[in-house]
Amino acid sequence: KPTRSDIESAIRNIPDFPKPGIQFKDITPVLADPRLFAGSIDLLIGNFKPGMVDAIVGIDARGFIFAAAAALKLEAGFVPVRKKGKLPYQTHEQSYDLEYGANAIAIHIDAVKPGSRVLLIDDLLATGGTAAAAASLLQKVGAEILEISFLIELKFLAGRDKLQNYPVRSIISY
Ligand code: 5GP
Repeated sequence: KPTRSDIESAIRNIPDFPKPGIQFKDITPVLADPRLFAGSIDLLIGNFKPGMVDAIVGIDARGFIFAAAAALKLEAGFVPVRKKGKLPYQTHEQSYDLEYGANAIAIHIDAVKPGSRVLLIDDLLATGGTAAAAASLLQKVGAEILEISFLIELKFLAGRDKLQNYPVRSIISY
């Protein structure tokens, strides 16, 4: 089984993407390696077993990849949280601040039954704005968030501070 450091070794640093001064963590080499992809899903799932969770919620777009695979493994449903304007049915929306400007994400109003037990998964925790907005969308639909997990956490950005109401776990941190 691959270790955390096997996965870490495959994550590629891309300087100045998408803007000068940003070091982008590229997870595509992890996905391309079947052993590392499967290992990263096992680590994201942690101690959860089938029957413990009703749905896995993934955040647009890389979060979908990990959350969908985790959903199959946990025999749970998959629910997308998408960028505003992409979901076809009625939605709740939540905006959040970026370094420059703002963004908004959305969830279908009937995405989960009230009281559903969910895990929220994304590839990377940076400032925490995206995950905090996704968590508030999940509150709006009445979901119970059991855990929020990330493949990568950029500790120096202190994104966890915005997620204090939830258990947060990450596999690799910088
Ligand atoms: P936050 O809202 O925590 O500042 O940003 C996290 C979101 O931005 C996540 O949805 C994540 O996919 C994306 N993101 C920000 N920086 C990176 C990065 O360096 N690598 C990857 N893979 N995603 C990033």
